[in-house]
Amino acid sequence: MSSQPRLYVMADLRNGQPFSLDQEASKYLLRVMRLSEGAEVRVFNGRHGEWLAKLSRVDGRVAELLPVEQMRIQPERQSAHLTLLFAPVKKAETDFIVEKATELGAHTLQPVITDYTQSRTVRTDRFAKIALEAAEQTERLDLPEIADALPLNRALDGLAPDCALIFCDEAGNDATRPWGGEEGRAQAALKTFCMLTGRAAAVLIGPEGGFSSQERAFLRSRADTYPVSLGPRILRAETAAVSALTLWQAACGDWQ
Ligand code: SAH
Repeated sequence: MSSQPRLYVMADLRNGQPFSLDQEASKYLLRVMRLSEGAEVRVFNGRHGEWLAKLSRVDGRVAELLPVEQMRIQPERQSAHLTLLFAPVKKAETDFIVEKATELGAHTLQPVITDYTQSRTVRTDRFAKIALEAAEQTERLDLPEIADALPLNRALDGLAPDCALIFCDEAGNDATRPWGGEEGRAQAALKTFCMLTGRAAAVLIGPEGGFSSQERAFLRSRADTYPVSLGPRILRAETAAVSALTLWQAACGDWQ
């Protein structure tokens, strides 16, 4: 594990072309990490791969970095596009979902407001900060896109036409029985994912209260939508999000 700080920057990264950091990043390197001129930093911007840069100048509170060597190439979009549609839950748990979805390689994080969603105020600016720090730590070469919260049906309308919707359905057909009973339970997630390799996918996770029967009827009638079971136990939304994304990466994504 490298000890060099790793920063997401907005600037273009070109050999020998210095750029100044913003105040927050400068403060982090100069005050928190207490780096001095000549120190090495790894930087990425989502476009030009990852570069080794040197702290080339300190002008008061502003640090200047000089890219000196490209360490990693920016890949063309290799793995299929992965979107996480998630109903916001309590603050800490929602922050956890954003951080873990970033580590697990989701390309787009789309908060959705469903019938039973409790937390309707969604701070996407906070999500963006969490995702940026998680992307730096997890050594991603890009940041996930953080979309503004949308009602569920509008978020579904916004999915790409080729995108398979994976509906993590906590109940079976018989919604009158706890967890829908065995009959009509959604298909095991891994089995479904293995049928969807190579396809863009959106994983949908509901709120603490699950999905309403109207939502479940609509989702189960929607084209290119796959209700999946994440096993016989009630998972918290954050557990379900991590479980579904992990399975998807292992079956369809970049964990091959
Ligand atoms: N309160 C609900 C559970 C909601 S859990 C109840 O007790 O019935 C929050 C979300 O996590 C669910 O909407 C679903 O999307 C997902 N989830 C949790 N456990 C699951 C499971 N075993 N199978 C599929 N999805 C699950």
